[in-house]
Amino acid sequence: VKQNIKGKIEFSNVSFTYPDTGIKALKNLSFTVNPGEMVAIIGRTGSGKSTIANLILRMYDCTGGEVLVDGHPITSLNLEGYRSQIGVVPQDVFLFSDTIAHNIAFSADVLDMARVEQAARDAAVYSNIMELEKGFDTLIGERGITLSGGQKQRVSIARAIAKQPQILIFDDCLSAVDTRTEEEILNNLGRNMQGKTSIIIAHRISTIKNADKILVMDKGEIIEQGHHQYL
Ligand code: ATP
Repeated sequence: VKQNIKGKIEFSNVSFTYPDTGIKALKNLSFTVNPGEMVAIIGRTGSGKSTIANLILRMYDCTGGEVLVDGHPITSLNLEGYRSQIGVVPQDVFLFSDTIAHNIAFSADVLDMARVEQAARDAAVYSNIMELEKGFDTLIGERGITLSGGQKQRVSIARAIAKQPQILIFDDCLSAVDTRTEEEILNNLGRNMQGKTSIIIAHRISTIKNADKILVMDKGEIIEQGHHQYL
């Protein structure tokens, strides 16, 4: 049975060492994200931002402390059911050699075109798709056309939005879009993710100014935590 989650995420003194390299990526992290909040995570390369995402996705289990979801240990949740409620846009976008529609609808059992089109609008890629001769039926990848880096990112964002997840994670996926488009996407997100949890890993200040909370990472630690105005 699938347990529906609300999306509260709590890191309680979390430490994590990558098993293969022995790199201590997170040291004693504590923070809480409530449903309905947008949290931004910033910090330089290698500071541990993606590792936080990895632990929320339960790609790994923390080696110290505890990760809680809705107050329950993350390890107690049914993994498949839990992950089905998370939308992730990874740093390295992956698209399939398939139509744009199928790439966006990827996690759905049936192709719901209204939902796919709305997600494309929300990800600010709808007009780019409509400019193509075959629109949403355009093949991309090996057998089809090549999209620009920014277009790929936005198709990947549309995929995560189309999933209508309870928790949404953006891992530095707005790097190739201009700041105006970024703002449009983030505004749409605010609308779509009401009552849900968004985690935005970023490096541009413009990306994080509307976040409810900002975590500043350095060498595996949170060095500052607060609102944009106070940092
Ligand atoms: P970036 O902005 O470059 O993505 P980041 O802040 O997301 O950086 P992480 O990717 O979380 O940082 O990396 C934290 C540390 O863990 C780094 O020292 C990195 O080399 C290491 N690391 C990251 N992923 C892995 C992995 N899969 N296996 C082993 N070590 C890893």
